[in-house]
Amino acid sequence: TPAALKRIAETIWELPMSYKEGMLVPARIFASEKLVEEMDAGVFEQVCNVATLPGIQRYAYCMPDGHWGYGFPIGGVAAMDPGSGVISPGGIGFDINCGMRLVLTNLSAAEVVPRLHHLVDRLFARIPTGVGCHGFVKLKQDEFRQVAEQGSRWCLKHGYATPEDLEMTEEGGCFSGADATDVSVKAIERGFNQLGTLGSGNHYCEIQVVQPNNIMDPERAEAFGLTMVPNQVVIMFHCGSRGFGHQVATDYLKLFLGVMERKYGIKIRDRELACAPFHSPEGQSYFSAMKCAVNMAFANRQVILHRIREVFSEVFNKSPDELAMRMVYDVAHNTAKLERHTVNGHTKELLVHRKGATRAFGPGAKGIPERYAKTGQPVIIGGSMETGSYLLAGMSSGADAFFTTAHGSGRTMSRHEARKLFRGDKLQHDMEQRGIYVRSDSFGGLAEEAGAAYKDIDEVVLTTEIAGLSKRVARLVPIGNIKG
Ligand code: 5GP
Ligand code: MN
Ligand code: MN
Repeated sequence: TPAALKRIAETIWELPMSYKEGMLVPARIFASEKLVEEMDAGVFEQVCNVATLPGIQRYAYCMPDGHWGYGFPIGGVAAMDPGSGVISPGGIGFDINCGMRLVLTNLSAAEVVPRLHHLVDRLFARIPTGVGCHGFVKLKQDEFRQVAEQGSRWCLKHGYATPEDLEMTEEGGCFSGADATDVSVKAIERGFNQLGTLGSGNHYCEIQVVQPNNIMDPERAEAFGLTMVPNQVVIMFHCGSRGFGHQVATDYLKLFLGVMERKYGIKIRDRELACAPFHSPEGQSYFSAMKCAVNMAFANRQVILHRIREVFSEVFNKSPDELAMRMVYDVAHNTAKLERHTVNGHTKELLVHRKGATRAFGPGAKGIPERYAKTGQPVIIGGSMETGSYLLAGMSSGADAFFTTAHGSGRTMSRHEARKLFRGDKLQHDMEQRGIYVRSDSFGGLAEEAGAAYKDIDEVVLTTEIAGLSKRVARLVPIGNIKG
């Protein structure tokens, strides 16, 4: 860790503006002592590079699951003044609106375990996985443009969603102001046949159990629907905007590199932090294209949910309603959004970049479902396929970090290193011995996802709780998984 790193509180560390030339604000890292020691050196450099971006407010932040990423660290948070500040694709990520969705059932583990193999095999057969996989919803390119503009609303119109699904999705499953004319033909071509697909690697659909001894906040657990039966089974899945979002990010990074310095006189420390003034034509065009990718990702998760409901219905011979397959929530972790926050006593609109970081609005916040007004917003955090995951709630004490928390456990080693250390077929076998049935179409890909390739999820979420960013509601234990 850098010598200049100063401990501010039990789980808050700071690098001052003197650490690096051009920093406009200090950098803050949320971490326990163990997590800060484990962080790769690149994270400290990256979060301080972010602190040099025009218009940044208060601090450049890194969450406890932070690790090295493209430009920004994964786990990076930066809020810009929209008037004087920039928008940066590296602060959002290539997988725009990658996010997590949690779905209830009223089934107990005892009812699911005897049919687990059948269930997981069925899910694996019906939800396309892998890098270039195609979806079952066949769309013309113009219809896909409507998906990009309407998100989950398109799904509602076409029978893939209920009104309640939209209500339980961040922003109702649609960022307004998405104009598909801001998206390249190439992006449309990459995306239009990918609706309803999981993608590869870190993306997954997992069957999990809420064990009674793993409920940390009984009141919120009940409000979030986790106490219908002991050992209740829930489904957590994670995916984003696939090749579509990736192409949007690629297109605009290139455009921004061409205008940033020449047209706007912005000099940055790292090309990967390519950006444009938020109010420039280029910045606005990217913001709109980004929203298209956000909406495609919401629709993607919605169509996948439709498929999951079909499969459960077939396997358990009951309707999705009879199985109480309602959404707890859908929350994004790769976005930029205009939100109102208080800085130095003034409430103003800010452009909040969250890259591998989850919005975590507390009780009473505007923009969360009425049902969660008293509890705060549900926050869904994946751990790993082997160890477990968490449902948390946003807290009022998260204001400083613009109501943001972690999004996962975060990697401890690169995919390449993990592939050298672990073997997919052995992992699958060992996991089965421990009661987790995992399917994947690539053993190499599975090896990259070994539990030991990720940080300790219990430590990460505890850190967010001590820092006042989010509060643990329940730990979720995996029993089945399809991996992209
Ligand atoms: P991302 O890939 O979006 O940066 O991170 C997603 C997070 O999900 C990772 O940091 C990791 O903690 C978690 N994760 C990855 N694969 C799995 C999985 O198969 N199951 C669960 N429960 N979590 C996972
Ligand atoms: Mn993703
Ligand atoms: Mn993700």
